[in-house]
Amino acid sequence: MVNDKKEWFTIEKIDESTFAISEYKHWEETHCFLLIGEDKSLLIDTGLGVANILEQVQNLTDKHVTAVTTHVHYDHFGGHKYFPDFYVHETEQEWINGGFPLTIEQVRNFLTEEPCDFPKDFDVNKYSLFKGVPTRVLRDKDSIELGGRTVRVLHTPGHSPGHICLYEESRGYLYTGDLVYMGDLFAYFPSTDPVAYMNSIKKLLPLSVKRILPAHHDLNVPLSIIRDMDKAFSGLYESGKLKHGSGTFHYSNFGIKL
Ligand SMILES: [Zn+2]
Ligand SMILES: [Zn+2]
Repeated sequence: MVNDKKEWFTIEKIDESTFAISEYKHWEETHCFLLIGEDKSLLIDTGLGVANILEQVQNLTDKHVTAVTTHVHYDHFGGHKYFPDFYVHETEQEWINGGFPLTIEQVRNFLTEEPCDFPKDFDVNKYSLFKGVPTRVLRDKDSIELGGRTVRVLHTPGHSPGHICLYEESRGYLYTGDLVYMGDLFAYFPSTDPVAYMNSIKKLLPLSVKRILPAHHDLNVPLSIIRDMDKAFSGLYESGKLKHGSGTFHYSNFGIKL
């Protein structure tokens, strides 16, 4: 999607109380999602942290906001500095408190890949990773209650060890983070696990999903993609290729980078 507006963030309404807050001016096209409940709001991921996402959130809700990250990669917790109340999966609580396995130089190199068109006041040399202690540590099958809305935690490792998807059964919304999106799926970093990735996709098959809300790229994801990804991962597994270093494999609307 091309965004020629001046603003760094683009807001799109999913429904009356659910919004996507997107960073289309950066090559990753990251999406964060704001869920407004009766008692409080939940912000799923906080983006790159190169512009103030809190201002965007405050335009949409005056309720208390808890942040939750689908996983501790820089493009998903960059704005955590604005949200002292945040949750993270137990496996990545060390990562979010200074233990992330890449150096800041490596992170800055990813961040500044083209295309990107940063806000004028952003200085990459001052970019640092958020560090903090979560207010709640999440485990598989936990629930997050927002008042009239319940979000279930699904531990879906593979892209990263503590990756979670969030499932809102009443609306059929599945927030898939970096596990499912249209584009090349990353399963080649040393901290990824391609077989765990396959098993996490299988975990999504029984859910009654009406809408997939991914953390990157096109927001209109066909529901069939979960089944297609399952077939693709299973095929690679059966042919002995589901391991680091096998290369990139292309399918109809996604790729798998091993
Ligand atoms: Zn990631
Ligand atoms: Zn990501």
